[in-house]
Amino acid sequence: MRIERKLYNRSSIKSKSSKEIDLRSELSTILFGGDGLLPHAKKVLIRKFRLDANDKKTKCTCFDDGTNEGSTECQFCLGEGFFWDEEWAECFSTYVGADGGLASKDKFLKPGNINAAYKVFYFDHTIVVRYIDKIVEVKLDTEGQPVVPYVRDSIYKPQTVKENRADYGRLEFLEIFCVEKDAIRKKY
Ligand SMILES: [Zn+2]
Repeated sequence: MRIERKLYNRSSIKSKSSKEIDLRSELSTILFGGDGLLPHAKKVLIRKFRLDANDKKTKCTCFDDGTNEGSTECQFCLGEGFFWDEEWAECFSTYVGADGGLASKDKFLKPGNINAAYKVFYFDHTIVVRYIDKIVEVKLDTEGQPVVPYVRDSIYKPQTVKENRADYGRLEFLEIFCVEKDAIRKKY
């Protein structure tokens, strides 16, 4: 999939008035369509770790204090070693190259020229993703719907959680950078 215009590049957007560009609606258009654009939203799961009263992750019963790890056999935490809940979220994701790292985050790569250093997930302002959480990609069918029963495909840990805010600090959208090589792939 390729997007013909850059996202959120203020300098390329000609505003007819001095009004603030509404990035919330810009992202909403990309996710859900409109303005002649097809919807690009993709369903992912956000794995939210439960915190105890001391803001520490709540250990699962399978957690081994000796190895500091959970059991990969555990059906409750699926090997995380901590309790979590998952919720669906709509996002748009893309890859960005290694050259320049975060500095080139807005650069969209040509097809066939993907340097999969980072995967970036864009969420609207209603979604909360913390550094301790994870983004779980599930298998989607050709129509973009999750295959049932759900198959967790790749698990990403946020490297950078960037809250993009406009004037007066209004949260416009979330940008989550994940290191592609650190992604946990399901083994078939
Ligand atoms: Zn467990």
